[in-house]
Amino acid sequence: MPALTSRAIQIDAPGGPEAMQLRQIEVPEPGPGEVRVAHRAVGLNFIDVYHRTGLYPLGMPSTLGMEAAGVVDAVGSGVTHLQPGDRVAYVAATPGSYADARTLPADTVCRLPDAISFDTGAAMMLKGLTAQYLLRRVRGQHEVKAGDFILFHAAAGGVGLIACQWARAMGLQLIATAGSEEKCALALVNGASHAINYRTENFAERVREITGGAGVKVVYDSVGKDTFEGSLDCLMPFGLMVSFGNASGPVPPVAPAVLAQKGCLYLTRQTLFVHMRGREATQAMADDLFAAVESGDVKIHIDQRFALTDVQEAHRSLEARKTTGCSVLML
Ligand code: NDP
Repeated sequence: MPALTSRAIQIDAPGGPEAMQLRQIEVPEPGPGEVRVAHRAVGLNFIDVYHRTGLYPLGMPSTLGMEAAGVVDAVGSGVTHLQPGDRVAYVAATPGSYADARTLPADTVCRLPDAISFDTGAAMMLKGLTAQYLLRRVRGQHEVKAGDFILFHAAAGGVGLIACQWARAMGLQLIATAGSEEKCALALVNGASHAINYRTENFAERVREITGGAGVKVVYDSVGKDTFEGSLDCLMPFGLMVSFGNASGPVPPVAPAVLAQKGCLYLTRQTLFVHMRGREATQAMADDLFAAVESGDVKIHIDQRFALTDVQEAHRSLEARKTTGCSVLML
């Protein structure tokens, strides 16, 4: 099986959306433990922005993109769970998915159930597996159970809308924050019990009102710099602060004494790629996500579709907070 020629979106150095350029690249034959996937759709994620801007540094030049869905085109030696022709979707541990095809380690590539389309598969892996581990694997001092309050920032976004629906299915009372009245309404329709426009309201005060002064057991914060401090003020004693992103910029250093002052809080910084270590863990998480989607508990909202060649516009929309739900690059 020879190398394939593919279109790819690459950067030569960190920069704005204009740093992304369309190129032709060779996609090699898969080596041992690898698989080559002919993409049908590619997912867009906020981590792609961190890679493009240099917040998360990459070797250069680099093809961007972390997730896609498509058909297995070739399989390297030692790969037993996939064969040519399989419909698949994946999150990769390294960038390279903004392309017509990609060769990557097979460990994180999962067969896609027939009932799930390529577009949905491409949209849901990184964001859905993130919601999966946040709600179902990360545990603090308190066990989270039906009826409990949690706070989820940026709840009308890609990860956020999946989390709203999954939390509803788990019986949790998810208090959403979002950046407009329309986004708040969207979070409520998708399962949030309450929604706060954090551009116009003090979210920590509102959370105290909603919870009768008690606070929430867990805060899930992907906004970072702008919300971190307020998030700590939303927690009950021994509550868990889960930081998992930096959409507004990185969180400044934190003095541990602050956690004591605010109620002996627990603070963790989480990343999907540690949860996905090993094929078995990845498949178990993916099976949980596929079941949630196939049962209808979680619907994947693809609210934006862009041509691969319009990737600059796609990044501008995501960074300008103009998107809701998931965005997909069409090939
Ligand atoms: P989203 O679709 O949620 O887009 C990001 C959202 O963040 C925006 O829509 C916006 O919503 C909100 N936001 C708040 N402040 C800003 C700002 N200054 N600039 C831009 N956006 C802002 O993206 P994803 O679903 O792809 O990812 C959500 C978050 O989760 C990201 O921060 C991402 O890095 C993180 N993430 C972390 C993972 C991990 O394992 N650690 C894995 C996957 C995602 P609004 O207008 O409502 O404020």
